[in-house]
Amino acid sequence: MSLDLGKALQVAVQATRTASVVCRRVQSNLVTAETLEKKDKSPVTVADFASQAVVCKALAEAFPDVPVVGEEDSKDLREDGAAALRAAVTEHAASVVDSSPDEQQVLGWIDHGGWTPDGSHSTYWTLDPIDGTKGFLRGEQYAIALGLIQDGQVVLGVLGCPNLSDGALPGILMTAVRGKGAGLLQIDEAGEPRPVRVSSAATTQESRFCESVESGHSDQGTSARIAEALGISADPYRIDSQCKYAAVARGDAEIYLRLPTSEEYREKIWDHAAGSIVVEEAGGTVTDVHGNALDFSKGRKLQDNQGIIATSGPFHDEVVAAVKAARGV
Ligand code: AMP
Ligand code: MG
Repeated sequence: MSLDLGKALQVAVQATRTASVVCRRVQSNLVTAETLEKKDKSPVTVADFASQAVVCKALAEAFPDVPVVGEEDSKDLREDGAAALRAAVTEHAASVVDSSPDEQQVLGWIDHGGWTPDGSHSTYWTLDPIDGTKGFLRGEQYAIALGLIQDGQVVLGVLGCPNLSDGALPGILMTAVRGKGAGLLQIDEAGEPRPVRVSSAATTQESRFCESVESGHSDQGTSARIAEALGISADPYRIDSQCKYAAVARGDAEIYLRLPTSEEYREKIWDHAAGSIVVEEAGGTVTDVHGNALDFSKGRKLQDNQGIIATSGPFHDEVVAAVKAARGV
């Protein structure tokens, strides 16, 4: 099936914007000094489900035949003990849609995102309703990431970054359509995205690299050795979520390293679909740590890839070689 990418972009931008509003609302209503003190994760759970619900509602209405591979499903929400959570998710989702849904409708929207690639469709969306849950809880960076996959290739991506600033105002959206470039607009701004390009730095010495805040998600010790080998003197830019791809796409950093912390871990497609196309369409290059292209055709995970290297382009091979040398593979 070939989809109208112009319409898909419009719908994806609007859906991501709505999800950003609901995430911000949950953050201001439910993240308190007390939840932070107790390390209570329930606010991000509410936002995660509400975000998936509103994005899936929009996608189901506009493209009823295109399935969605979302990170969440409603199983836990349907449990008897989850009544308060269910009510909070329904209340927040309802606050940003043009209808008055009941709980069952909201659960149904969430489950519209429950598809697993099984070969029956070659075109599908993939959604991370909140990428960077730990950043969300710290009041720092997180992203709503929506990608469209066709025949194993990402063809469109929208990244909502509600806490990433553009000038004085926090909140940007980054967009990309294969072959059409990447764009940036403020979350609260109507209108056309303005084009963005990666940094023009010519050497690794002038570069900055970004990586996860969480040492469990990326091997920071090896990153430091790679940076040294590449002559990078700037401190690492540690930032949660696919905002790292946004940082490379708009030139805040030249390199994003995501180095495996175990041999077994495989990246999830929703953690990389939107971000990778945004960097590529901004002029950069994205591979795994072996220098192989990401293969989105293997189900819910990037089964044939390990880790991620995204760069602004000119010295990508040099970075891949340094990563291989430092990892000893
Ligand atoms: P980040 O904000 O870049 O640290 O990435 C957040 C994402 O890391 C989450 O969406 C998880 O899917 C993913 N994740 C969880 N465990 C691991 C792991 N062991 N290695 C790499 N990524 C992970
Ligand atoms: Mg994620």
